[in-house]
Amino acid sequence: MLKLFNTLTRNPEEFKSIKAGYAGVYTCGPTVYDYAHIGNLRAYIFADVLKRTLLHNGYAVKHIMNITDVGHLTGDRDMGEDKMQVATKRERRTAWDIASFYTDAFLNDIRELNILTPDKLPKATDHVKDMIKLIQELEKKGFTYITRDGIYFDTSKLKDYGKLGRLDLESLREGARAEINHEKKNPTDFALWKFSPSPSPSPQGRGIKQRDMEWDSPWGIGFPGWHIECSAMSVKYLGQPFDIHTGGIDHIPVHHTNEIAQSETAYGKPLAKFWLHSEFLMLDAGRIGKSEGNAITLEELKSKGHSPLAYRYFVLQGHYRSKLNFTSEAMDGAQNTLNSLYSKLSQYNEGSVGCAEYQKEFFEAMNDDLDTPKALAMMWEMLDSDQPGEAKFASLMEFDKILGLSLKDTWTQRRLPLPEEIEELRTQRDELRKQGKWSEADKIKIKIELNGRFQVRDTENGTMVIRLTND
Ligand code: AMP
Ligand code: ZN
Repeated sequence: MLKLFNTLTRNPEEFKSIKAGYAGVYTCGPTVYDYAHIGNLRAYIFADVLKRTLLHNGYAVKHIMNITDVGHLTGDRDMGEDKMQVATKRERRTAWDIASFYTDAFLNDIRELNILTPDKLPKATDHVKDMIKLIQELEKKGFTYITRDGIYFDTSKLKDYGKLGRLDLESLREGARAEINHEKKNPTDFALWKFSPSPSPSPQGRGIKQRDMEWDSPWGIGFPGWHIECSAMSVKYLGQPFDIHTGGIDHIPVHHTNEIAQSETAYGKPLAKFWLHSEFLMLDAGRIGKSEGNAITLEELKSKGHSPLAYRYFVLQGHYRSKLNFTSEAMDGAQNTLNSLYSKLSQYNEGSVGCAEYQKEFFEAMNDDLDTPKALAMMWEMLDSDQPGEAKFASLMEFDKILGLSLKDTWTQRRLPLPEEIEELRTQRDELRKQGKWSEADKIKIKIELNGRFQVRDTENGTMVIRLTND
């Protein structure tokens, strides 16, 4: 039995899909105005582990992840500028070029993290017509109003607005005194469509268009609000209701709350059955984020000698509903643990019958709301047990269908002979060490490890060279 914690009910619930044997999953994807940071990537590793667990439970999974390439403003409550436009000023190229560049960078990140590619990665800019239709539907039902800067959703018309986050609407109203947009009827109201700002009237900016991305609509030229894209794309690709909606915890009070308001008003039925949210990655007691100025990218981790899969391992060590503290020491620890997992694995011969007891416990932990720390603990218990190597090998292959640590590829690669030049350096180093020429031996070690593909370990039998990458 698969149990998942549903944000909607605040309970771990047995997962039962709407259609037998099939699960539709929607993940709010990246805003492609910059590189993803490792906090963002935690949210996608979580969605991947969920998907792999569903697959293991026999579900055919359809996974949709949108690409937000328009409309996500710097402030969540319709304040500030479109993040894409901010990037155009920073990088002096068009919003279209920025979207395309960072979408490719994101796809590369998820490939390196061994995240199974979603079945579809629809872009917001390709679905503006669908969004306009949906806004018209809301308009017909009387849930919209117009202000000078856009079309808004009137949240006071919805009895259960805010049910996902159990929002305290009173205190939100109290806090709204600082609100910039005084034309909004309620502080929780949100933009469905925003009008393009008029060309600047100042002498320097006269006639200069303010946006690269804008569309005609029944209400005037502009661009869609952020939340409407997910409502329009989820119904298009998964129908409504669908099984599971995922995202980071920060999406609960605004983005997901507003997706629910729009979709349920338009179609008169629930948006999704299960809502799953992953917690933050933290750095020095604060959340990692671009606006916090402490974003770390996967490239930066790599430049410090950490492999993307070691980051994946690091994330798996925490439960998705707990905050996870990032430190470079903890990252070193994850890299070392993954390396020793790989070294252990490469000592085993291939086998096809696994360790039944350990496997049972591993998958029970995964089915208990994706308890990856417990599952990893079971894996290590098995590795330390006196079970035969072939059985450990077979179980590891099963575990890796969820862990996604490239264990099969690693095993195959590590069993290949070392490249000739590395083998030569290894022999030279052993010779130097025998002669007590330690500093020269150290120089050879540096040479072997230079490009980050190999690591040297000293053993009783001399220099052992471990492959760190699978190429
Ligand atoms: P964005 O690209 O800003 O739309 O965010 C992409 C995803 O990253 C969302 O699901 C966010 O909830 C999530 N996210 C943002 N910051 C963090 C963080 N520090 N830790 C974990 N997830 C995060
Ligand atoms: Zn979304």
